[in-house]
Amino acid sequence: MIEHVRAVREAGGEPLEVKLPRDLEQVGGLIIPGGESTTIGKLMVLYHLDTAIRQRVAEGMPLFGTCAGMILMADEVVDGLPDQPRLGLMDIRVRRNAFGRQRDSFEAKIEAPAYREPLEAVFIRAPYVERVGPEVEVLGTYEGKVVMCAQGSLFAAAFHPELTRDRRVHQRFIELARAWKRHALLDRCQ
Ligand code: GLN
Repeated sequence: MIEHVRAVREAGGEPLEVKLPRDLEQVGGLIIPGGESTTIGKLMVLYHLDTAIRQRVAEGMPLFGTCAGMILMADEVVDGLPDQPRLGLMDIRVRRNAFGRQRDSFEAKIEAPAYREPLEAVFIRAPYVERVGPEVEVLGTYEGKVVMCAQGSLFAAAFHPELTRDRRVHQRFIELARAWKRHALLDRCQ
């Protein structure tokens, strides 16, 4: 969480930690961090953040899930707990801890054509995407596996862009969040 706060600041954004549904009203976009998707999911339900996030997303708010965040955004999770609470917003199937125990955490360059140069990525007990729906755009691959994708204003990465010095991923997300917030404010004024 704190690493994303720093990364957003370094990328030129104004970070705000979202803990309660009302915090969401202040932001133009939301990043769901890594961690343990089962725990984050339970906390989200406890604080009613799941419904609030779904509502904001329906209004067009950009959402970016990294690692556990990606798992929470997926429609389908392989190797998840049966009662694991999720947002289920993206038409993707994600496998948890997909790189196996031997490769618990590692750093690698991933192919991400939209960013021109490959992205340096830190993977920690990372998932990957096994299936993408027709409306999902693949943004990044590693060894042929989908590790970054988008569906409209929803973004998901299997890795941790906040843990490298490369701020391109956060910069792009902040641009989108700014554009949406401006748009949402204009709509409210009319
Ligand atoms: N393996 C974790 C999970 O399944 C995700 C790990 C991470 O976010 N770095 O929730």
